[in-house]
Amino acid sequence: MVERLAEEYPGDVVTLCALHHDGPFQLLVATILSAQTTDERVNLVTPALFRAFPSPQALAGAAPGEVEEIIHSTGFFRSKTRSLIGMAQGLVERFDGKVPTAMDDLTSLPGVGRKTANVVLSVDMGVPGLPVDTHVGRLSRRLGLTTDNDPEQVERDVCALVAPEEWGALSLRLILHGRAVCQARTPRCGECVLADVCPSAQLPVGVPTGPAGGRRRSLGAPAGATRPRRAR
Ligand code: SF4
Repeated sequence: MVERLAEEYPGDVVTLCALHHDGPFQLLVATILSAQTTDERVNLVTPALFRAFPSPQALAGAAPGEVEEIIHSTGFFRSKTRSLIGMAQGLVERFDGKVPTAMDDLTSLPGVGRKTANVVLSVDMGVPGLPVDTHVGRLSRRLGLTTDNDPEQVERDVCALVAPEEWGALSLRLILHGRAVCQARTPRCGECVLADVCPSAQLPVGVPTGPAGGRRRSLGAPAGATRPRRAR
């Protein structure tokens, strides 16, 4: 699966990352902003944000209104502003203005959860990390890599199966595959490069997901061959 996804979505963890940034501080900012919005939307606001606040020191001393105005279009702008300024103050006060490389230190910063920390570690700091978002969780379950819904457990299960140097890129490729092919409601198994190794591939497509939906409960079950697999 790792090899096929790498063929399908070539590049390394840096080139696969869609958030425009220069260095771990900017990536931390961009990743905090990316909650509940698209990478494209984040990339529209970060140039102005980085011009106005080019360093942790500058952002730590920012007036909240100034930050809110710049990031308004990314949604949840008040809480994101609190996180950004609080994160920058944490960097300045406790880490000498530098982004720390330890997971515990990163997640001690306001607005920085495990997923965000893993993005920064794996993309920009050369530290293995597997960010688990909704796509990574869904695909990991469909592919039979985990049975768990908890992101931390998904991370543990997938990391146990994959070499550390692959974690970051695998996460980004699963996200790309989840957007393009293995979509939440209608996975396009007929076009999927993993169809012949995916335990969910033979299920009928197009069945809506939902709490009472058959597809969610059926995913991963040993269903009958209701759809021809793609020959490879
Ligand atoms: S075969 Fe279908 S369910 Fe499995 S990863 Fe591909 S699109 Fe998703």
